[in-house]
Amino acid sequence: MTFDLSADLEERHRQHRYRQPQIMESPCGRHAVVNGQRYLNFCSNDYLGLANDPEVIAAFQNAAGEWGVGSGASHLVCGHQRPHQDLEEALAAHTGRERALLFSTGYMANLGVMTALLGKADAVFEDRLNHASLLDGGLLSGARFRRFAHNDADALNRLLQRSEARRKLVVVDGVFSMDGDEAPLAALADVCEHNGACLMVDDAHGLGVLDEKGRGSLFAQGVNERTQILMGTLGKGLGTGGAFVAGSAELIETLIQFARTYIYTTAMPAAVAAATQVSLAKARRESHRREKLATLIARFRDGARQLGLTLMGSTTPIQPILVGSDEQALALSQALREQGLLVTAIRPPTVPEGQARLRVTLSAAHDTADVDALLAALSQYQETD
Ligand code: PMP
Repeated sequence: MTFDLSADLEERHRQHRYRQPQIMESPCGRHAVVNGQRYLNFCSNDYLGLANDPEVIAAFQNAAGEWGVGSGASHLVCGHQRPHQDLEEALAAHTGRERALLFSTGYMANLGVMTALLGKADAVFEDRLNHASLLDGGLLSGARFRRFAHNDADALNRLLQRSEARRKLVVVDGVFSMDGDEAPLAALADVCEHNGACLMVDDAHGLGVLDEKGRGSLFAQGVNERTQILMGTLGKGLGTGGAFVAGSAELIETLIQFARTYIYTTAMPAAVAAATQVSLAKARRESHRREKLATLIARFRDGARQLGLTLMGSTTPIQPILVGSDEQALALSQALREQGLLVTAIRPPTVPEGQARLRVTLSAAHDTADVDALLAALSQYQETD
């Protein structure tokens, strides 16, 4: 028997939440081509402009020539090749940790960690605005699942004080993916230490971007030694794809034994690992990328404030403009598109009801003229609104 799915699809339409991938006909960069039209691209997470860097591309091509296109197996069978091992060592050194372990995606890394470490006797404490993969990982683990008010260390403290769980794991985004603000990591570490909890940070949007060497939120906020588990993704600041978890040797051994999303999946292609090795070195060394990004962020924020737009307090490359209703967010995104600018409207359930927004992301691949073009288009919308 086939399921009747049409009602679900119609309901999605009715809510203005029907989504579809657009077909990109260009690499992910400063510009994007869709349906033969060229746009300035303010949607990607390629914050440092490394996804199309010639040296990173050359590393990928050379490694594909040497290692082939597919790894052929999971890490524990015969898919763990020399470039994977080298990258794990480089990521551990970059993040100042004993060891690091590669996962094929950040989504899988988060599910893997939480299901490997937690069970029914345990409890997980999550910021309300955590990424979907962290929420799913917490639920899948079977641990008692608690959410606390966004960035509220006191609320977390109250929950932890009442908990009698065997293991208490506190999990937050380092940089929140839809708001762009940063977790108050020192305050959260205080609360964790006070209550015997372990702290895990998903730094998907901080790695490469924050700290003078791109080591991410933990270094930027001086809490690396106080954070037991770091998850970082490779598909954003580092411009490639995949993810890693970094921590103590014991943590990594535990993940190798028990993280099902590590054990039962094909290792990422070695060429991705080799390309990441180069992009990681560039991200660390080429601080001019972060400096340019900071200039663009400041320029955008100043301009947007002058236009009276509602920003969300973020100083990272994620610069959401709060709009409110789903329809208005979609209309604004469409109006910008007609002016040659690609900016995504983010709607519930990705963000809370009534908080639909335009998620502007800036990249070192942009120029000041690109930011000015976006601001000029937004000012027209403001006038005609
Ligand atoms: N965590 C956060 C905070 C993210 O924004 C994302 C990606 N959107 C992920 C995890 C998942 O990473 P990946 O895309 O590598 O699966």
